[in-house]
Amino acid sequence: MSYINNELINEIRKKNDIVEVISKYVELTKRGKNYFGVCPFHDDHSPSMSVSKEKQIYTCFSCGKTGNVFTFVSDYEHISYIEAVRLLAEKVGYNLGNIKNKKTNNQDYEIYENSVKFYQNNLYSSLGKNAIEYLQKRQIDKDTIKKFGIGLSIAKISLTDYLIGKKYNLDNLIKLGLTNEKANDIFVNRIMFPIYDLNGNPVAFSGRIYNTHDNSKYVNSKESDIFKKGKILYNYHLARSYLKKNDSIIIMEGFMDVIRASTVGIDNCIATMGTALTKEHIDILKKMSDNIILCFDGDEAGAKATNLAISLLEEYNISPKIVRLEDNLDPDEYILTKGKDAFLNKINNAINVIDYKMELLKNNRNLNDVEDISQYIGSSLKELAKIDDDIVVELTLKKLATNYDIAYQTLYDKLIKYKNDNVKPKIKKIKPQKEPVDKYQKASEYLINYMLIDEHVINMVENKVIYFPNDNIRYLANEIIYYYHKYGVIILADLISYLANNEPLLTTLRQIMSLHLKENYTEEEIEDYIYVVNEYPKNMRVNELNIKLKKEENPLEQAKILKEIMEIRGVKK
Ligand SMILES: [Zn+2]
Repeated sequence: MSYINNELINEIRKKNDIVEVISKYVELTKRGKNYFGVCPFHDDHSPSMSVSKEKQIYTCFSCGKTGNVFTFVSDYEHISYIEAVRLLAEKVGYNLGNIKNKKTNNQDYEIYENSVKFYQNNLYSSLGKNAIEYLQKRQIDKDTIKKFGIGLSIAKISLTDYLIGKKYNLDNLIKLGLTNEKANDIFVNRIMFPIYDLNGNPVAFSGRIYNTHDNSKYVNSKESDIFKKGKILYNYHLARSYLKKNDSIIIMEGFMDVIRASTVGIDNCIATMGTALTKEHIDILKKMSDNIILCFDGDEAGAKATNLAISLLEEYNISPKIVRLEDNLDPDEYILTKGKDAFLNKINNAINVIDYKMELLKNNRNLNDVEDISQYIGSSLKELAKIDDDIVVELTLKKLATNYDIAYQTLYDKLIKYKNDNVKPKIKKIKPQKEPVDKYQKASEYLINYMLIDEHVINMVENKVIYFPNDNIRYLANEIIYYYHKYGVIILADLISYLANNEPLLTTLRQIMSLHLKENYTEEEIEDYIYVVNEYPKNMRVNELNIKLKKEENPLEQAKILKEIMEIRGVKK
């Protein structure tokens, strides 16, 4: 956590007893030392989750979910770790509002809240009649107006005057994009759509013209301390409460698309507000759902945005499903003109990434022409070679074989060739659980497990382990050693907080915890694990030397290399 210090987080954790907190979500029964309940993170029928009051840790013996009180609330509520800290802090009387971001003034939020109410009052005043009629013509009913806080700016009634009357400072209103330098309102005679941050605070507006003609259909707030475009996901705060286990989340471009979808009862939509999908968005999305559907505008720009989003999501090993709307329509227009069922049909038939890419490859090709077919299949196999999911690969190959009447084996052989050509390694794979468990991995995991139980093992690892083969385990071991030297003790529940801003390491730690390795050990076992782990760098060095030996022609140098190899081997048992 970069902005709340660990001591404070630990203090908040101690005041939120894990048994009490989890009991509010899941019924717990005491059995022996621990409490048991039905795990909310998988389809559990018998109580598989155990909660330890002593360790302040929960762990599911079925799906392996484990962690401290903050990870539980974060996973259960689909919120970030820091939001979970904030939530639990508030429950025990801490206010982290000011700590989060010293630069932001809480008054900024207040000003926006007041502005939303002000614009809403305008809409329901006698001057708002035309606007209400306009909205109703566009099938935006009163419930929707209320739900999304829609309002109206009117030339005759100045927001700036109103806010200054409430003793807010003019400079602040200018800074927040509500007022211009001449102390006039930025938004005039527009239907006002508040833009909310992830916590549901209004932080900006988009104002749309109605019944008039203006060069700019929409006027949007400029960025401010509380409004950063790349961090906003419109409707996140509402969508997440509708999201149930295994639900998908639909990503759209504009807020109007999300509002429109909501009018027909589709509430699992969020919008990127016209900006490209960012890494920050993906961090948030990952917490919401694994099933992401991209439903951008049907035009050329929407197609480009779709392709960009796919590449970015793929870097995070997320394979979205894709919906493309015909006739250049955006989701708002599509639902209005073709109706809810037509739209739902689109969503339910969203296609996977490889099918989408292969469909794109057909463009500008004549698939009656042998040459074009050959090129098309070649490009498709190249795309397919990047896919890790064997089932998807096999199904797609079968489809290609049938559609173009080509032997499966021919396609398969060519695919393997392309796979071997793919030298470029994929960027950051943060999925330690998917790596094969070899003996080095197993020994490393046991060592980490015992480091968490006994400080003596920390000392042994620090002094004797040369190099953990797995990157994340190596960094994790270093963090545990560092943490131990700093605090003099390992409290697992606090170590989790300490690692919360380093997701790969936290994932590695939680993954090792979920293995439920045995707790008792002998000194000899630890020595054995260290021996196995240390074999890895030695073997790597011997391999290196053997290659060098083959290339070396000078007998004297050869002897030197051989000596080093013997020395390394000699150290081994
Ligand atoms: Zn579970």
